[in-house]
Amino acid sequence: MPELPEVETVVNTLKKLVLNQKIKNINVYWDNIISQNKEYFINNLLEKVIIDIKRRGKFIIFILNKGYLVSHLRMEGKYYFYDKESLKDKHTHLIFDFENHKQLHYNDTRKFGKFEYLDYFNYDNFKNLGIEPFDERFDLDYVKKIISKSNKEIKPLLLNQQFIAGIGNIYVDEILFMSKIHPETIAKKLDENDMLNIIKYTKKILSSAIESGGTTIKSYTSSLGISGRFQLFLKVCQRKDEKCYECNEKITKIFLKGRGTYYCQKCQPKK
Ligand SMILES: [Zn+2]
Repeated sequence: MPELPEVETVVNTLKKLVLNQKIKNINVYWDNIISQNKEYFINNLLEKVIIDIKRRGKFIIFILNKGYLVSHLRMEGKYYFYDKESLKDKHTHLIFDFENHKQLHYNDTRKFGKFEYLDYFNYDNFKNLGIEPFDERFDLDYVKKIISKSNKEIKPLLLNQQFIAGIGNIYVDEILFMSKIHPETIAKKLDENDMLNIIKYTKKILSSAIESGGTTIKSYTSSLGISGRFQLFLKVCQRKDEKCYECNEKITKIFLKGRGTYYCQKCQPKK
């Protein structure tokens, strides 16, 4: 599943390809990909120009000369850009035709992705989304308020998008490894030093992942011909039974709330 760094990479790449393009035609091949009336969606996008693209959590927001197009890739959504009209394949669910005959295709093998047109956009549209990891308000005060009261295990808490927007299953394991925190630690048992480590390594790991173009493992590549390279820097994720780079202990894999979870027993002792 694309996480914050992969979505950021898609946004940065799309910006190089589709800014200032005018939408001349839209073909929707799988209606459920649109989370509102299809005709309303199409009619509001025709003749619009994409003037900027931003990310909020894992949402991609195309800012138009009037209105906003919001896209969420969910599990497997991918964009492909073509210099000329190109054939769809069986997983192409949406095609945007631009004035200069270039095309943006949206492919999604699992069909979980979503699109929506919005007249107005403000942060209330995403009021269930927590703070961005790079926001300066993501600090000790903010983290302490939530962590010090929570009886939840720290990993599922960090994955909760209402707390921090954009962290997913790969990066949370890496953040906890660097912070030397066992993923099953009950949140309120963590001290200030642990919280400061979580903040520091969240920012650090996500920004190096963005620099590497995200992570390419299994099904997910950030599409648009980009393969992320951050998988080369993963310290615990996908490394079951391999040696820990810090202490040589074998990396353990467990399932925590149904999510594959990697950690080092020695470096991340239970509190
Ligand atoms: Zn270790």
